[in-house]
Amino acid sequence: MIALIDKLEKSRALSKEEWITLLRGRDEQTAAYLFERAQAVRKRIYGDRVFIRGLIEFTNYCKNDCFYCGIRCSNKKAARYRLSEEQILSCCRKGYALGYRTFVLQGGEDPYYTPQRMEELILKIKGEYPDCALTLSVGEQSEETYRLWKEAGADRYLLRHETADEEHYSLLHPKKLTLSARKQCLYTLKELGYQVGCGFMVGSPYQSEETLAEDLLFIHELQPEMVGIGPFIPHRDTPFAKEPQGDLELTLFLLGLVRLMLPAVLLPATTALGTIHPEGREKGILAGANVCMPNLSPEEVREKYALYNNKLSTGSEDALHRSELAKRMERIGYRVVVARGDPEKENQNV
Ligand code: SAH
Repeated sequence: MIALIDKLEKSRALSKEEWITLLRGRDEQTAAYLFERAQAVRKRIYGDRVFIRGLIEFTNYCKNDCFYCGIRCSNKKAARYRLSEEQILSCCRKGYALGYRTFVLQGGEDPYYTPQRMEELILKIKGEYPDCALTLSVGEQSEETYRLWKEAGADRYLLRHETADEEHYSLLHPKKLTLSARKQCLYTLKELGYQVGCGFMVGSPYQSEETLAEDLLFIHELQPEMVGIGPFIPHRDTPFAKEPQGDLELTLFLLGLVRLMLPAVLLPATTALGTIHPEGREKGILAGANVCMPNLSPEEVREKYALYNNKLSTGSEDALHRSELAKRMERIGYRVVVARGDPEKENQNV
């Protein structure tokens, strides 16, 4: 196992069989070694810095029906909301004052937010905060739409691929959503010059070491700037209500593997990780992550953006409590910084 980790660090790639061997054979000792190497690699590029992103969950209307997601359109129990442009800009204002220099607009695929409405919103935010990066995460769109938003000033796009195995993809999504369309979006976004993030849930129903190996191979092929990995957590009003949640140790192990495969990747310790363990975020950072994305949405809508049960949005998950997060990071030897937090070159020393 140790030899495979050394090989991964050196060659930044493994074969499908090797990934499977590592995932099946992992134990505490292997994980400890992996996390040590992942931290060393990350320190070389990013030092002790942790980047923060202000997450604005601006709409939970969604036309899609992903089986795992609490805001799927057939969940009639979800209380729907969308923030107005004013509300969104006021989130940015608060965030800016707190030191956030990246805003992430995430939402369901909400037809109200047409390409033009989004374009106006992007122009406004980038006009008021030209020194901030703007990340979008609003699902699958046409190439023209992605281009329109890029030209309006959007910098980054998060679109988890969810699983890189065709059959697995079809077990998590309705028929009209396909892995090939999802992948095509990611390639288009890259071509248009976005910094791109893909990713997946750990422990989603029907996942196996084989499908995870496919995920790692796909991430290697795509070479994204960001990768979002968090545990699957069931939502009571979805078809997966009774499925078990994803495993903490496996999630951390995957964060470590991705850090070694893509040394300069921007890797969040996700909200889902913080939700399944009180020190999930710290553990994520110690496994190789270097980003936290606290919630900047207005208090009154937070519980409505319920992708899964018991989703955190308070304490360190609350962007307004930056000092709590900063303290938590300091305790483990890291430092929250005021910066856009773009990907850095490996030879750039800090
Ligand atoms: N509509 C956007 C944003 C989706 S929400 C899009 O399509 O990209 C962001 C991410 O939350 C999803 O990509 C999914 O991986 C994750 N998510 C959804 N339901 C979840 C659940 N039950 N447990 C854990 N993560 C979940």
